[in-house]
Amino acid sequence: MKTVLISDFDDLKSAADILKAGGLVASPTETVYGLCANALDPSAVAKIFKAKGRPSDNPLIVHIANLDMLTPLVENIPQTAKLLIEHFWPGPLTLVFKASPIVPKEVTGGLDTVAVRFPSHPIMRQLITLSGLPLAAPSANTSGKPSPTTAKRVIEDLNGKIESIIDGGSCEFGVESTVLDITSSLPVILRPGGITYEMLKKVLGRLEIDPAIYQGLSGDLLPKAPGMKYTHYAPNASVFIVKGDPKRAAMKINELVKEQQNLGRRVGVLATDETKHLMHADLVLSGGTLSNLNTIANRLFEDLRRFDDAHMDIVYTLAFPTNEIGAAIMNRLEKSASYNIISI
Ligand code: AMP
Ligand code: MG
Repeated sequence: MKTVLISDFDDLKSAADILKAGGLVASPTETVYGLCANALDPSAVAKIFKAKGRPSDNPLIVHIANLDMLTPLVENIPQTAKLLIEHFWPGPLTLVFKASPIVPKEVTGGLDTVAVRFPSHPIMRQLITLSGLPLAAPSANTSGKPSPTTAKRVIEDLNGKIESIIDGGSCEFGVESTVLDITSSLPVILRPGGITYEMLKKVLGRLEIDPAIYQGLSGDLLPKAPGMKYTHYAPNASVFIVKGDPKRAAMKINELVKEQQNLGRRVGVLATDETKHLMHADLVLSGGTLSNLNTIANRLFEDLRRFDDAHMDIVYTLAFPTNEIGAAIMNRLEKSASYNIISI
């Protein structure tokens, strides 16, 4: 298949036509690039799973561009949802509702719930509006790899496998949406993201965080979001997180780098502006300053992919604070490291 690259806003109609005909289009959103298909067409949705190599029981988020599109997708709109919608839509908050029967099981992974988001990115909104369709859209990467935040990274993973890619530059948040389950009495964060726990708490008063987010699925924890049980965000290199005071962690990482280099391995380090000058490795990248976690989030997936570009065998990274957007950063890093954490 020849993948057409669209870089002109005026050409979105041709992308909408592809979607109406049951094809796939990768589009920028404010979080990461999404791989879109008509959410109500099971055979279009099946193409997403095939292009990404995604396990079929990992459900998809349905994207809408106005509130009228929500009603037919869900069984009901609880009061909590109305409050959250008022505060955070359009934006990087996905809400899990009881699904209506029109949502195909291919989208829900066979669950009785459906995850819905109203993105703020103008291209994605325009694409939904022009097609007139709710769009199922996971991140536009090969399953398991770091999510793409530029069109170039989508091309790397999906060129020749999908009809079209819209180039809208780099994404604002750089980590995916927060997934919040509102089907039980107390809302539960299933995935931390752009709308933080702190922001939600101000509006909701009480909410929970699913324990599997930080511990992984060890022991007898059952996944509430099926995505939790799969490898995610992993570059080709093995990633290790070194947790502790940043300066001491930097020294520990230098020791580890030397050991690995002596074994003939190429070693990368993900540091910060504060620690970068202290680190020695084959490639040292800084995610930004610790005082601006938004920048670190924004660059995280791109940095992980840059280590692959440079053929690193191993990557050591500092740990980041877990407040605000830091919760999403550490959740993604812990998964990319398969929970390989060295505490000092
Ligand atoms: P992705 O679109 O690839 O960034 O992943 C979407 C995330 O939302 C995955 O972690 C899914 O498991 C989760 N998700 C989607 N639909 C549901 C649902 N109905 N219930 C719980 N989690 C969901
Ligand atoms: Mg994804």
